[in-house]
Amino acid sequence: MINNDSTITNEKQYKSNYNRSTNKNQISPIKSTAELGYLDSTRVCGDERYTELSCVLICSICQNILWKPVACVTCENAFCRGCIQTWANKQKQPRQVTCPFNCMFQEKRAPPILNILLSKLRIYCVYAPNGCGQVLSYDALEGHEQTCQYERTPCQICQKPVSHRDQNDKHELRQCFKEIYDRNPDYVQVQFIKLLDVIETSQRRIQALEKLLGIRSQENK
Ligand SMILES: [Zn+2]
Ligand SMILES: [Zn+2]
Ligand SMILES: [Zn+2]
Ligand SMILES: [Zn+2]
Repeated sequence: MINNDSTITNEKQYKSNYNRSTNKNQISPIKSTAELGYLDSTRVCGDERYTELSCVLICSICQNILWKPVACVTCENAFCRGCIQTWANKQKQPRQVTCPFNCMFQEKRAPPILNILLSKLRIYCVYAPNGCGQVLSYDALEGHEQTCQYERTPCQICQKPVSHRDQNDKHELRQCFKEIYDRNPDYVQVQFIKLLDVIETSQRRIQALEKLLGIRSQENK
C-alpha cells in the first residue's frame, strides 16, 4: 500500500533504480507496463495531492496501482484485469468464481470515477531506469512505452542498443560481429566471423542429420 512516505520518496526511489542499473555494465531488458500487467506505485510521480487518491487506486490482488481495471459486479471492488483473470484461472470451480472479497464474481466495467482518478496520475515511463525522463498521464503511458526509444538496451557483446520489443529488429551474433568489425576492422574480428561460418555450417549439418534420423531439434521445440 502507498503511504505518505512512499509517495514523497517515489522520485528518489525510481531514480536510484536508474542509477543502480546504469552503474552496471550490462542493462537487462525491461518489460513494458502492458507486458507486466501491473503498475508499480513507486512509478507515480511524487505529488502529495495524489497520495490519498492513490490509496483508492490500489489493486487488492497485486497491491499496485490498478492497471486496466475491471470490477466485481457484486462488491464493486476493482482489480487489474490481468490480476482478476489470473485469480479466476486458479480457482477449482471455474463456474463459481469468487472475487478476493468472497462474493460470486462476474466481471463488469470499472466505475467511471476510477478511470477519472487514474487519468489524474502522472507516471514515470517504465524505461526510466534506461534513461527515459518522460512523465506521462495514465492514459498516455501505454502509447508512449510502445514507441519509447529507451526500450533499447546495449547488446552485451557489441554495446549497440538493441530493441527487445521489435521482433523484426533481431540482433543475431552475425550482426553483432559485423557491428564490432565495422567499428574496428581488426583481423581478430574477421576470425570471429569465420568461426561463426563454421559453427553455422555444422549446425545446418546437425539439423539435416537430425531430420534424417527423425530427431526433433532442440531449437524447433
Ligand atoms: Zn493488480
Ligand atoms: Zn466481489
Ligand atoms: Zn519512455
Ligand atoms: Zn551485439
